[in-house]
Parts: sequence; structure tokens; C-alpha cells
Amino acid sequence: MKIIMLGAPGAGKGTQAKMLAGKYNIPHISTGDIFRSNIKNGTELGKKAKEYMDQGMLVPDELTVDLVIDRVQNEDCKNGYILDGFPRTIPQAEALTKALSERNEKIDAAVDVEVPDEAIVTRMSGRRACVSCGATYHIVHNPTKTPGICDACGEKLILRDDDKPETVQKRLTVYHEQTQPLIDYYKGLGVLVSVDGTKDLNDVFSDICAILEK
Ligand code: AMP
Repeated sequence: MKIIMLGAPGAGKGTQAKMLAGKYNIPHISTGDIFRSNIKNGTELGKKAKEYMDQGMLVPDELTVDLVIDRVQNEDCKNGYILDGFPRTIPQAEALTKALSERNEKIDAAVDVEVPDEAIVTRMSGRRACVSCGATYHIVHNPTKTPGICDACGEKLILRDDDKPETVQKRLTVYHEQTQPLIDYYKGLGVLVSVDGTKDLNDVFSDICAILEK
């Protein structure tokens, strides 16, 4: 199963993507995580990506598309994958469709996790990310067992620079301008499914699974 997660930053698509990847035993591919791990490791790609990410802007398509197209051709993707945070622009979506169609493949579902902007801003200020493994939590909606410490790896949690209120506002503007058009793009391909992302995260997950298994 090849699935794309759509939705505004902070809609909870990363959390749902991880849960789906676990359930279907397929890789969770997050471009945000790939960039953050490059930043942490001080790579050239990381240095370039950071300039954009810290301002709430998108990393240019030239630095993003090939990375993902290569990644989905890995052996571990042969039974499918969950793309989280890619595509984020129409050119990225078109490049993915083209690369897949060259191998007679296609996306099975693009899942739009719908959350209004007001709720996003409140959510993001409570979001915390692990400095080491990138796992994300929320101080109210998805807390860790020990406050400030990652459940998965025991490292420290932080408020990411790109989750700070001024950057969140910028990211929402960028989302509406550049990423929201993907909803119509995937509707046109007949694979769009929408879920109410304001519900409890386990209910959102059940809703997604019910649609995917219909
Ligand atoms: P995320 O963790 O998915 O919210 O991504 C964090 C940041 O990484 C975004 O705000 C962008 O700056 C950058 N990013 C992630 N995925 C992409 C993408 N597909 N295209 C461009 N920039 C991206």
C-alpha cells in the first residue's frame, strides 16, 4: 500500500503516519525527519535545508524530489510506504506521479487530515520533539511518560525552531499557498480521502484504517 499523508503542519499527520507504518509494516518516510537528521549530522544538504526550515519556508524542490524518488525505490519499499510531508508542492506531486508511472505504480491513497488553522496554532505550541530520534509528542494530547524525556529513546525533548508561534504562522501561509492545491490534485486522481483530524488521535487512526480497508 502506497499512502501519502496530507494536511497542515501540526495536523497530526506524522503521528498517524507512524501508526499506519506500524500497522501495515511498511516504512514511514518523512522528508522533515530526513532533513532534520541531515542538519544534526552537519551534511551539505542539512546546511542548505536549515536556512529554509528555520524561516518556515519550503526546502526547494531540487533538493527534495530526487531524495524521495530514490528512497521509494529501496528494497524496503517493495510492499509500500507512507509518505509524510512529501509531496508539498504540485511540481513535487507531478514528479512523484511520473516516477511511479514509469514503473507502472501509483499512489493508493492520499489521506488529508483536516484541522482548522486556529487549532493548529494551539497544538503546535504544545508540541515537543526528541532531539535525538525525532519522535514528536504533545504536552496535553500525547504526553510522554516522563515530562521532557522521549519515551522511545530517553533523550531530551525540545520545542523545535519551526514550531515556534511566528514560524507556525508562516508555515500555515506556505501550506495554504503551496500544499493545499494537492488536495484537488489527488482528488483528480481519484485517491483522496479526508478525515476529521480534530478528534482524539486513536479515533483519527480508526477512521483512516476504516477508509483504507473499505
Ligand atoms: P515537517 O516535519 O514535515 O513539518 O517538515 C519540517 C520542514 O521541513 C518544513 O517546514 C519544510 O521547511 C521542510 N520540508 C519537509 N518536507 C518538505 C518538502 N516535501 N518540500 C519542501 N520542504 C519540506
